[in-house]
Amino acid sequence: MTEAFAARSAQAETALQAPITSDSQSGQHTLTASADSEPASEAQATDAVTVYSPVQPHSANRISTQNLTDDPRTNLLGLTREQMEDFFVGIGEKKFRAGQVMKWIHQYGVTNFVEMSNISGKLRERLEQLARITPPEVVHRHYSADGTRKWVFRVGEGAGSLIETVLIPAEDKTGSRKTLCVSSQVGCALDCSFCSTGKQGFQRDLTPAEIIGQVWVANQSYMEDVPLTERTRTITNVVMMGMGEPLLNFDPVVSAMRLMLDDFAYGLSKRRVTLSTSGVVPMLDRLGEEIDVALAISLHAPNDTLRDELVPINRKYPLRELVAAARRYIARDGGLESARKHVTIEYVMLDGVNDHPEHARQLIQLLKTLPSKINLIPFNPFPHAPYGRSSNNRIRSFQKQLSDAGFVCTVRTTRGDDIDAACGQLVGQVADRTRRAERWQEKVQRQQGERQLHESVKTRGD
Ligand code: SAH
Ligand code: SF4
Repeated sequence: MTEAFAARSAQAETALQAPITSDSQSGQHTLTASADSEPASEAQATDAVTVYSPVQPHSANRISTQNLTDDPRTNLLGLTREQMEDFFVGIGEKKFRAGQVMKWIHQYGVTNFVEMSNISGKLRERLEQLARITPPEVVHRHYSADGTRKWVFRVGEGAGSLIETVLIPAEDKTGSRKTLCVSSQVGCALDCSFCSTGKQGFQRDLTPAEIIGQVWVANQSYMEDVPLTERTRTITNVVMMGMGEPLLNFDPVVSAMRLMLDDFAYGLSKRRVTLSTSGVVPMLDRLGEEIDVALAISLHAPNDTLRDELVPINRKYPLRELVAAARRYIARDGGLESARKHVTIEYVMLDGVNDHPEHARQLIQLLKTLPSKINLIPFNPFPHAPYGRSSNNRIRSFQKQLSDAGFVCTVRTTRGDDIDAACGQLVGQVADRTRRAERWQEKVQRQQGERQLHESVKTRGD
């Protein structure tokens, strides 16, 4: 879904319990700790969409960051630790090379083997022949004055092959956070009625390299001018809330999340990596078997009749099954550090559709035995959307009803306001650009034709 990028990024905020306030006059929700810190540097801050190449300024030998789909060399960017070890063992090298190379790639942002100073020259040459490190191609980036950053990646040919990634910085009592909202697919097959990604249909799954590459690029965006030896990891949280349904691209998503958690890569804590799903029940069980990360369920309706309409996958896996699967997910013993203490329930607030007191009552009943926190998301409208956003008053009273019933219930915040116009529509704008240009050209030509006709009529009349 494209439109809801602000929503998702802010969901990430509320998932982490950022305090919020509501400005009743403007209708905007803002973070109280608006440490929209991390102001983009002057050179970086821009209102215009700029073309950007993620090539390292310190790279001795730069390589192209284009998607080299016909390049037979293995792209090491998307390999998990295990796969990287297999790769090195497969070429007759020791396993420990895997950790070394992973650190160069993910922590120092190196895309060129020549810079890997603790690897012998001979091995570097071999690697050059056998492997590559290729992040997805950034076609546009947009850095907001409040610190929000957004990237558009091209992951194939044609206008439909674009994905978005959004980064939201914030300060809270645990320190500075940089939360990245990552896409898992180009488009989405599930067609939720309030989601603009769903309206685009499904194009294709992203590869592990394309998924983790979004984290790589975001991380590197803070390291562009930092010398190699001083580079650090900057992303603190990842939410799989970008385009696509992550559980329908299971293996690549799990591989990428393993890299997010790996100390040789991004070293994030389990609780700071969140997978959001609309409820692909069988895959939820598989997720529980394979990895311990935080879970968000896009619920949006408290009864099957309404949910069938809003989230069509509900017709296949109705609420009772979904809630039971969520309960199984958190029932797995993940130990003290586990991310499986509760699930986050996402609930988009659609004016007059799912925001009545009766819906809140049903929600309370539905969730009363599920350890959960509820995140209310003001609907993000998009062109031709069949819904409106619930009023602030309605959202607040819905929230109060749930809080009074004992739930932790937050309302998502809006960030990156100065790029909000583009938020979610950025991909649309990029994709539209040619058609717009064509339309504009046609208009100019029409006007010129009319002028010429007018001139010739005038001349004849003279
Ligand atoms: N497919 C997954 C993850 C991507 S969608 C899922 O559905 O959970 C991430 C979140 O954005 C979901 O909670 C989704 O319901 C929400 N969302 C989609 N469209 C939205 C819109 N127009 N306004 C607000 N939130 C939206
Ligand atoms: Fe959008 Fe639904 Fe797909 Fe999530 S599952 S991206 S909300 S269409």
